[in-house]
Amino acid sequence: MLYALLAVALGFCLYGFYRRWRRWRLGQPENRRDLLWRRLKDLLVYGPGHKRIMEDKKPGVMHLCLFWGFTLLLAATVVIAIQVQFRLPLFRGAVYLGLKAAANIAGLLVLIGVGLAVWRRWLRPSGRLGGEPVDAAALGLIFLIVVTGYLVQGTRMAAAPDPWGRYALVGYALAPPLRALFSPASLLAGHRVIWWLHAFLSMVFIAWLPYGKLGHVFTAPAAQFLQRHEAAGVPEMIDFTDENAESFGKNSMTDFSWKAFFDADACLRCGRCEGGCPAYLSGKGLNPQRIMRDLRSHIMDLERLDPTAPPPELIGGVIREDDLWACTTCRSCERQCPVFAEHVDKFIDLRRYSVLTTGSFPAEAQLVFRNLENNGNPWGMGRETRGAQLAALNFTVSAAGDCEILYWPGCAGVFDKRARRTTEAVGRLLDAAGVSFAVWSGAGCCGDPARRLGNEYLFQELAAENIAGLNENGARRIVTQCPHCLHVLQEEYPQFGGHYEVVHHSVYLEELRRAGRLRPLAPATGKNVTYHDPCYLCRYRGVGAEPRALLRATGLSMREMPRHWERSLCCGAGGGRMWLEEKAEERVNRLRVEEAAALGTDYLATACPFCLTMLGDGLAALATEKPILLDIAELLLLQTDNSGIQS
Ligand code: SF4
Ligand code: SF4
Repeated sequence: MLYALLAVALGFCLYGFYRRWRRWRLGQPENRRDLLWRRLKDLLVYGPGHKRIMEDKKPGVMHLCLFWGFTLLLAATVVIAIQVQFRLPLFRGAVYLGLKAAANIAGLLVLIGVGLAVWRRWLRPSGRLGGEPVDAAALGLIFLIVVTGYLVQGTRMAAAPDPWGRYALVGYALAPPLRALFSPASLLAGHRVIWWLHAFLSMVFIAWLPYGKLGHVFTAPAAQFLQRHEAAGVPEMIDFTDENAESFGKNSMTDFSWKAFFDADACLRCGRCEGGCPAYLSGKGLNPQRIMRDLRSHIMDLERLDPTAPPPELIGGVIREDDLWACTTCRSCERQCPVFAEHVDKFIDLRRYSVLTTGSFPAEAQLVFRNLENNGNPWGMGRETRGAQLAALNFTVSAAGDCEILYWPGCAGVFDKRARRTTEAVGRLLDAAGVSFAVWSGAGCCGDPARRLGNEYLFQELAAENIAGLNENGARRIVTQCPHCLHVLQEEYPQFGGHYEVVHHSVYLEELRRAGRLRPLAPATGKNVTYHDPCYLCRYRGVGAEPRALLRATGLSMREMPRHWERSLCCGAGGGRMWLEEKAEERVNRLRVEEAAALGTDYLATACPFCLTMLGDGLAALATEKPILLDIAELLLLQTDNSGIQS
């Protein structure tokens, strides 16, 4: 009977997963079977190892208890099943006693996990977690399986004492009260009933796996295995020469690959993504968790639609237009997500459809596009004035061709008054270190604002001009103070034939310091500093150690904000949001400077011209004297005093 029940349960389980697999196959093909060993390592590190889940301690401990508790119980059950079925002498001696004790402790771990989950969802809800009936049912089922397991042991030992019973810790403790309450005959009958109830509940668990949240015992490890390994945030190239293309960008779920379907289906509804989303935290409608839920409902509906009918559009239906333009592409959601869901590429593809196919985008973006087209920079400053602006800065430029690096200040570093101070500081530090460097006055915008705002056509034009110029003047090693330029030049220009080594100024200055070419005096000032990690530096490029090493080298003591390094909170400028109107009540930059001001440090350092603008505006609104906002290069120059820098 047990095997018949198991067959039925497995049948339901396999059918459920087959239905889900069929839904994933509605998407376009994409290869995620490469890098097998790396993927297997990810599976171990992020699955049983709980690497990402444990970054958030409270839910991490809850999940650790449930996962390892259940895994041990499963292992014990499998050993017993093999012994019974094949009459192997497995469950004997030390193995018997060890497994008996381990399974009892595992059951307790599961009960602790269930208790913590109930606490987080219903007793002290955090807001981002919904305590839904299906969650309650899943936790209730797990609880009952463990409790009936203990009662099976307890009634058995109450009816017939077991010389090794004390190894079954909880069952052993239950036996005396059960013996006092019931007659031996009732205990034997009760044991049989509870045994079957325990077995039946376990079968329900197996059968229900693919239909509710419990399915993540398979989908979460699969998602960890299938995570992206190529550089993140590099949109697919659109081929504008394709005469058969009827539209550009994507606007229906079936335009996306199967991985987009999988992401929506594997979402755990844990809410970690919304907890670090600047758009959500500042009161805009965008909520990455809600988007994943809505996409999941949408793909369930897709299954029921006539496959010959045109697929439903996403923009305006599943994804509101305002949400589409609210995203800063900061990738905090992706960095927090335990199943490595990929949100940002979808936004970019949908924006491209809006801009290139329907011509619908925020009015402010029109001005940015026009400035980029006419003047090659989003500020709309005359293209021909770039050289004069650079010449006005106080540093020495070498002739291209015979220098160590090409210094790329980016449009902000040339035209924006605040960012020009960073450009000058970097130039003076390079001078002091004896670095021969060239600056290309013919450069245009790298194209980041155009690409993030969905204007791929304009981006490709800007990229082509820059690549032609860079290739002509033989640039190979480029240093930039703009993390957006860094990402685009390093990771996106190769799509168009531009292959360069691009280094952020924090990394290059640290390299010079380590080589002894820059030697800050590091006076003991008694002052301290906190550092705001720019999203395109810490999350897109993984750079966080070098800026911190530089700051420590200045003699300042470091204090970290609660959200730092890869979990940093976005300033609000990325994804082209720098040029779009901020309508929400709460501004993103204000949230961030409040976090910095709460530390009471003397300085707030950062390493991105857009972060400088946004945080500067935030501090002005706070009307506080401390912290003083500086780029790390300015701080390095200030703390060391140029006379103290020896080359
Ligand atoms: S990329 Fe940033 S702004 Fe966009 S949804 Fe994710 S967390 Fe929110
Ligand atoms: S997308 Fe990821 S982080 Fe967001 S709710 Fe789903 S599983 Fe959690």
